[in-house]
Amino acid sequence: MTNPIAVFTDLDGTLLNHHDYSYQAAMPAIKNLKERDIPLVLVSSKTQAEMNALCAELALSSPYVCENGSVIVMPKPECERLGASLENAEAKGGDYLLYRGANRRDILTVLEGLKAEFNFTGFADMSVQDVVDCTGLNEAAASKAMIRAASEPLLWHQDDAAMDEFARQLGKHKLRVLKGGRFYHVMAACDKGDAVRYLLSLYESYYGAKVASVALGDSPNDLQMLKAVDQAVLMPHPDGTYMHDDGLKNVIRAPFQGARGWRESVETALASLT
Ligand SMILES: [Mg+2]
Repeated sequence: MTNPIAVFTDLDGTLLNHHDYSYQAAMPAIKNLKERDIPLVLVSSKTQAEMNALCAELALSSPYVCENGSVIVMPKPECERLGASLENAEAKGGDYLLYRGANRRDILTVLEGLKAEFNFTGFADMSVQDVVDCTGLNEAAASKAMIRAASEPLLWHQDDAAMDEFARQLGKHKLRVLKGGRFYHVMAACDKGDAVRYLLSLYESYYGAKVASVALGDSPNDLQMLKAVDQAVLMPHPDGTYMHDDGLKNVIRAPFQGARGWRESVETALASLT
């Protein structure tokens, strides 16, 4: 008997094309996963509000991972089926939000306490227009990016030495700071890899068998997720280069960027696992 399989994927520059955000070229592989009952789990730095429309468009019933692994969104029936713990969970519509550590309220409370000592501006201090101005997102997209469950992006107004001290203070509260393109993200001490390992443990106890796992990603924030699975797929950047693989074993390098490379690599990975 072959083992059950689960596929985990980053979105921007991975399932979605870098330039036009299209996933159309990946559809044949997504259809194949559905026909074979293989869960496809989206794993992104985006918020639930940004990801739920895509999950609905793709008609996925599997959980998805938001805000770099700090929260897992799981449809209620899937939660029951997999026996997920609701200890650190919150009901929202037809889903549960499973927090992997602190939620945003806790994070904002800690940040409030650090304001006297450090100089930063978080999303909580910004208007939609402020976020539009510093991200280039349109108003609707900025609004969705601002509905956060378990992380807080902030603009830092001090030097690196002050950032080191800020990170040390956050560590006392089991929080970490992750450097993004424009923002620093304050979140629980967790990452995409923790969330993927947790979901794999749920699938393995549900199936009563080892689950063969695949993950696809293109950036350093995907590395821990790629390390957590059996078959890692590295997606090329628009200039054709790949991120540093940090000694990852068993890597497929996708032959094309975005959705087309995603489809081919998922097919290659499935063939290698079955
Ligand atoms: Mg990406």
